[in-house]
Amino acid sequence: MRDAALFRSLRTLDSPQHAVVDSGGQPLRNFSSNDYLGYAADPEVKAALIRGVERWGAGSGASRLICGSLGPHAALEEALAAFKGTEAALTFSSGYAAATGTLTALAGRGDVIILDKLCHASLIDGARSSGATIRVFPHNHLDRLEHLLRWAAAETGAQGRVIVVTESVFSMDGDCAPLREIAALKDHYGALLMVDEAHAFGTTGRDGRGLADALGVADQVDIHMGTLSKAAGLHGGTICGSRKMVDLLINAARSFIYSTAPPPAVAAAATTVITELLPGPSGAEKRRLLSERIAAFAGLIGDRITPPQSAIVPVIIGSEAAALERSAAMLAQGFLIPAIRYPTVARGSARLRVTFTAAHGAADVAALAAALLQ
Ligand code: PMP
Repeated sequence: MRDAALFRSLRTLDSPQHAVVDSGGQPLRNFSSNDYLGYAADPEVKAALIRGVERWGAGSGASRLICGSLGPHAALEEALAAFKGTEAALTFSSGYAAATGTLTALAGRGDVIILDKLCHASLIDGARSSGATIRVFPHNHLDRLEHLLRWAAAETGAQGRVIVVTESVFSMDGDCAPLREIAALKDHYGALLMVDEAHAFGTTGRDGRGLADALGVADQVDIHMGTLSKAAGLHGGTICGSRKMVDLLINAARSFIYSTAPPPAVAAAATTVITELLPGPSGAEKRRLLSERIAAFAGLIGDRITPPQSAIVPVIIGSEAAALERSAAMLAQGFLIPAIRYPTVARGSARLRVTFTAAHGAADVAALAAALLQ
């Protein structure tokens, strides 16, 4: 790994997630966090978490089916279902666990899972361990998706399930899936659609409901996946959908059944974020700030990069070694932007993955643009 410039190591931060972080006494402008709205260190979110700890204690004590299903978990799921406009919701200890638990519960031998080439590792791992037949279409390529849907319909007949899986905002490229077209195709071929909104939840759509909401196709999505670990500033994975599907997940999703429930205080704080902050003035102001920062960066950088479609902006470098060097050079100038390399992205497409948050100031963005243009 070292020889191929693929070795990774951990950097410890000595301050909370914020626009500027402290790493061993060195202040770094942080353009690498998924805390898009700055809620990880927000006073209202911290207060909600503390209230949750005082009321509900620290740990959950057991998995949800044993005795760990506490009031805040049920309240959060009710709030999530209402927010997303679905019959029901289920929360997991992480987005990773939500993806693997859901795909392994819903698909198996005789079924087909069709994934976008750039889907997140959690979706790939879920598909692989489900035992279903896996097919992959080139990123956002609708013709190839249709071809695979036609093939899968013939292959599975009336017996098997076909699930199309995509992200809405792609984690390492920041571009968006053509969800309207994908939803029309999956309807036409009678497949199910799972959309991972990890990077759109909280930032996109009405009050942050996600990209499917923004594009008016939320009703056509069968399995809405999300995470509370990014724009909500907290922790945990989410699945929203029909009551029947959620009941099946409670009974068959192994990452849900065999894992201790997330801390109740986290669920209580997440409920505050979903019911009060995201739909209220706080969420509106943070989303406004975020889009202002992204637009300012796009204006400063001009045609040197593809115009951003989200808070995630990839600066493609190419070789793994060169990306590491660029990241180190940015670090020396006081910017925290890790190099993203294989296997997270394809070999030879290593990049700096810049992410913006509502916590960044205009001066942070201007400094970043100047450093990248050097
Ligand atoms: N899906 C995508 C697209 C992600 O980027 C991530 C996190 N990197 C996950 C799922 C997993 O979410 P979590 O961090 O909550 O496990």
